[in-house]
Parts: sequence; structure tokens; C-alpha cells
Amino acid sequence: MLSFTFFGKAPNWLTIYVSLALSLVCGLRLMTWWTKRNAVLTDQKAAHELRRTNRIAGVLGIAFVSWAFALFPYGDVFAKVHIGLFLAIAMLGSMLCLIHLRSAALIVATTVSIPFVAFFASTGIPSFVGMAINVMLVTVAVIIVILIQYRDFTRMVEAQTKTEMLSNENLRLANLDSLTDLPNRRAFFTALGEAFERARSKGTRLALGIIDLDGFKPVNDLYGHAAGDRLLIEVAGRLDSFCAAHDTFVSRLGGDEFAYIVTDASDDAGLIARGEEIAALLSAPFALPDAIVQISGSVGIAVYPETASSAEQLFERADYALYHGKSARRGGAVLFSADHEAQINRDSRIEQALKLADFDTELSIVFQPIVDVRSQTTVCFEALARWISPTLGRVSPAQFIPVAERAGIIGSLTRPLLRKALTAATAWSGNMRLSFNLSAYDLNSAEGTLAIVSIIRNSGFDPRRLDLEITETAFTHDFEQVSRSMEMLRLLGCGISLDDFGTGFSSLSRLHALPLTKIKIDRSFVTDLHKRPASYKIVKSLLALSRDMNLDCVVEGVETREEMDVLRNLGSLMVQGYFYSPPIAEDQIRPFLDHPVNAALQAS
Ligand code: C2E
Ligand code: CA
Ligand code: CA
Repeated sequence: MLSFTFFGKAPNWLTIYVSLALSLVCGLRLMTWWTKRNAVLTDQKAAHELRRTNRIAGVLGIAFVSWAFALFPYGDVFAKVHIGLFLAIAMLGSMLCLIHLRSAALIVATTVSIPFVAFFASTGIPSFVGMAINVMLVTVAVIIVILIQYRDFTRMVEAQTKTEMLSNENLRLANLDSLTDLPNRRAFFTALGEAFERARSKGTRLALGIIDLDGFKPVNDLYGHAAGDRLLIEVAGRLDSFCAAHDTFVSRLGGDEFAYIVTDASDDAGLIARGEEIAALLSAPFALPDAIVQISGSVGIAVYPETASSAEQLFERADYALYHGKSARRGGAVLFSADHEAQINRDSRIEQALKLADFDTELSIVFQPIVDVRSQTTVCFEALARWISPTLGRVSPAQFIPVAERAGIIGSLTRPLLRKALTAATAWSGNMRLSFNLSAYDLNSAEGTLAIVSIIRNSGFDPRRLDLEITETAFTHDFEQVSRSMEMLRLLGCGISLDDFGTGFSSLSRLHALPLTKIKIDRSFVTDLHKRPASYKIVKSLLALSRDMNLDCVVEGVETREEMDVLRNLGSLMVQGYFYSPPIAEDQIRPFLDHPVNAALQAS
């Protein structure tokens, strides 16, 4: 518009060429802004752009002022006023546009207003001097507004950044395990959910591995929690570097449980191999500040889509493979299989049948003699549960007891069984003992234990002739409560036997703290004892241990003459097993005691 006012009055190079050049620069600038309007810049790039705006503001300010002043001599009064108006409005407008970049706004203010005021004031024309003062006052006012606005703007941005950083940090912490710095359980399930959705939509395989440490508890008990924490950190370190190298997401689920996700799950053999590698990784010794410890890790693996149809099921099944694999084989990897699937189905059928069962009529008890080797007499009978379900037929206690424990109904089996066993035993003569199996779940509450105490009291059977058998795994539940329950039963006069000894992981120091009267060496060490030097050594040292600790000892599962001969040479005192007799019905006890006719007993 200014060019238009001066067209024909000022030389063409001023009104056309310079004016076009300046318009071109402004046009280019405008286009740049427009095309970049949605771009997300890095902090560095943004700072660079802002500095450039500063420079351009100065250059353009000087260019426009110079151009306007160059036109000044060619105009009449009206045209000269137009110059003043143009400069004042353009300056104030630019400053407003640059309100969020204080430096650029101030550069425009100085490069335009100072020459402007000086130039118009120096004309000596009162109206122009007045205009100069007007513009100066407005510029000062606008500068003040800009300074205040800019201060508030900066504060707002700072506050926002701080909240963002804080919430990012909170998010990070909420997904991180504070001890090991691995992703935590929550992060794991988020990652699992995402990986699962991806696998489903792309139709790819997905594997999940759960790792559980074997032997972590004893380290914690023996060396203290600080050492336990140290061990977990070391374990996490090994897992982290292994998984980082294999592009696998690993996290700590809690306690001594870890889990990993394999998104490039190729073949089952590869998955098991990777699981075995992880297990092997954990069985190398750990150097803690106070000791060098050795543990191992077991791994359970499940694969989508073969064995699971949802992320939850994938997790449950890996967990199942882990715990069922663990009882068969520690320190290795187990893939959830069709057998596991069948077992889950069978267990759920058993659970259904148990929930409908009438325990008084469906449950019965058989008794297996425990024989004193030296006197060759039966000194005790172990009561073993038998269940004939109307729907499933005969079910082994090795199957239905664990199901009842998991379903939380073991107490309603134990009570009728104990009553039946005690009723049968009351008829026995002399000092024949009764041994009865309790589940850990029977002892992990005071009420449960009191119920057992009152059944024993009311039976009329002398508690001093009763042994209660519990397994080592009982103490993995609630060590304190189980010990207290055992004390209570000891006070009543009952003996306490540690069943299946040698299969668990209990530390000897812990064993010592328990009010035990007897240990029962597990069948697995006895089978083919004469052919397996390792078993021989274990049984020998367990016998020595029981003698040292002043505990009675029963060797379980003796089946053959060869095994029996070795045991006799080791000085074993009490023996139980098919060699003498399988479990027998109550009405066979009398004949058995009168005529220990089985060939084994006579021959020995
Ligand atoms: P357990 O307490 O270790 O019982 C010994 C098991 O070994 C019995 O199996 C017995 O029949 C079997 N056995 C005995 N001698 C031999 C032998 O020479 N060779 C072989 N191969 N096996 C032998 P059963 O009766 O099937 O019981 C299995 C498990 O179920 C028991 O193991 C026990 O843990 C549990 N159980 C049985 N009855 C009860 C009960 O009333 N309450 C609880 N809580 N658990 C029970
Ligand atoms: Ca037993
Ligand atoms: Ca046993």
C-alpha cells in the first residue's frame, strides 16, 4: 500500500523492486511457517528456529525502516503521514505476533521505534514530533505488556514440563521393580496383553516362560534378607543380559518369580532350548558378599495358539507347566503339553466329584504295616485314604489329595478320615501305633489344628500312640503357624513324622527347629538302592543324621529283598513297603498280625 501511495512520485526501483523484494521475503517466510505448522521439532531444532527468528526480525526491521525512510523525501504531507502510520502499525503488529518470543519482539521494537522516533522528532514539524511521542508511549506500553505476558508464559511452560516429567517418572516407577530395576508384574501383564494382540492379529506364535528359583528360600533363611535381595539383583542381572541379547522381554513377577515373553517363538525345540539355557544360566554359582551360593531355576513355558487361547490362559498354563515340571524335574524347562491338558481336565473332574461327594460313605482307609527290622514285628500302621467315587470310580489319593488342597476342601476330608482311622486303631491291642497323614493346609490355621486336636481327644485313642505325618512342603506355606500347630500336637502327646524326607529343600537348621520325632526317608532313594551308589550314600547319611538328631527313622517303599538286605546292613530300624505288605483293609489286620505269612517276612 505504501508503494502504491508513492508510485510515480518516488523512483521505480524503490516503489517496485525493493517493495517486491521485501514482499517476496515476507511471502517466503509465511510459506515456511505454514508448511511447518504441524511439525514436531526436537528441542535443538526449535532453539535453532527461534534464534533464526531473532535474526530475521532484526534484518527485516532495519530493511523496512530504511525503505520507508528512503521513500520519505518523495512524498507530500499525506504520503509522509502514511509512512508514519505504516511503520507504527507494522511494528506494533509484529511485536504482538512475536509475543511468545520476547527477544524477537524487543529486537523489532528497538530496530523500528528508535529510528522512527529519532527521524520524526528531528523533522521539527510539531505534528510529526507528536506522532513520534505517541508511538514511543504506545511502544513502551506494549513492551511492558509483552514482558509480563512472557513471564507468565514461561512459568506456565515450566510448570507444564515439570508435571510432564513428574508423571513420566511416576509412570516409569509404577512399571519398574524397585529392587531389581526390571519391569514389574504390572508392566509384564501390559506387555503380555500387547504381544498377545499383535500375535493374534498377525497370526504369529507367542511363547511365555515363567521362571521360578529353586533354593532361594534357604539362602534367605540362612544368610538373611539382605543376601536374598542381593541374590535377586544378581539373578535379574543375568536374566536381563541374556534376554537383551535374545530380544526377549523379561520382568520380575515378584518374590523369586520372573517371566519372559518370546515373540519370535519358532519351534518347540527352540523354546525348550532357550528355557534350558536360562535354567543353566541360573545354576552357575553366585558370589554374594558373605558367601558363594548355588541355586537353580525351573522354567515353565506355554505357547499361543497351540495351548492357549487368551493371554490369561497362556500365563496359567506356563505356570502349570512350571509347577508340574518342578515336581518331576527341577532346574530345567518344561513346555505345557497335551498331557498337562489332560491332567487339568482330569483334575477338574475330580474337583467336581469331590464337591458332590459324601465323604463318610465314599472314603475308606487302608493300613500299611511299618515293621521293626530287628524284632521283625509290626510296630505301626500308616493310614492311607481310599476314595471310590460313584462317578469316577477308584481315585488315587496322590490325585485327589492335591486337588482337595487346591480347592480348599482338604479339611473336610481330613476330619472324617482321621475319625475313621482312630476308630479302627482303638480296637488294636497293646502299643501298636497309628500313623496318619496330615496336609499342610490342615495346620496352617489355629482353628484347623484345634479341630484335629478335638477329634483325637474325643476318640479315646491314646495320643502317645499316634504319629502325624507331614511333608516338607508344609513349611513352604506358613512356617511360623505350621510350627506352632506342630507344637500343639506335640503337647497333646502325638509324635510328628517328616514324610517324604529328602525330596524337599528344607534346610537342616530349620529341620532342627521343628518338634519332630521321626523322619521317613522317601521311596525315591530306596528304589534300586543296591544298584545306585548315589541313593545308597543319601540313605546312609540320612540314617546317620536321624541318629544324630535323636529321631526315629522309617525307610519307605522297600519292595525287594536286595533293597532290604542293603538297608539291614546300614542298620535301618524301621521299614515300610511292599516287601512286607501293601496297604491292607482294616479286617485284614488281625490275620496279618497273627500270620505274617507273606513270603517276604518269613524268608527274612
Ligand atoms: P505317602 O504318605 O508317602 O504314602 C505312601 C504311599 O506309598 C502310599 O500310596 C503307599 O500305598 C505307597 N507305597 C507303600 N509302599 C510302597 C512300595 O513298596 N512301593 C510303592 N511303589 N509304593 C508304596 P497311596 O496310598 O497311593 O498314597 C499316596 C499319597 O497320598 C501318600 O503318600 C500321601 O501323601 C497321600 N495320602 C494318602 N492318604 C492320605 C490322607 O489320609 N491324608 C493326606 N493328607 N494325604 C494322604
Ligand atoms: Ca505318609
Ligand atoms: Ca511318604
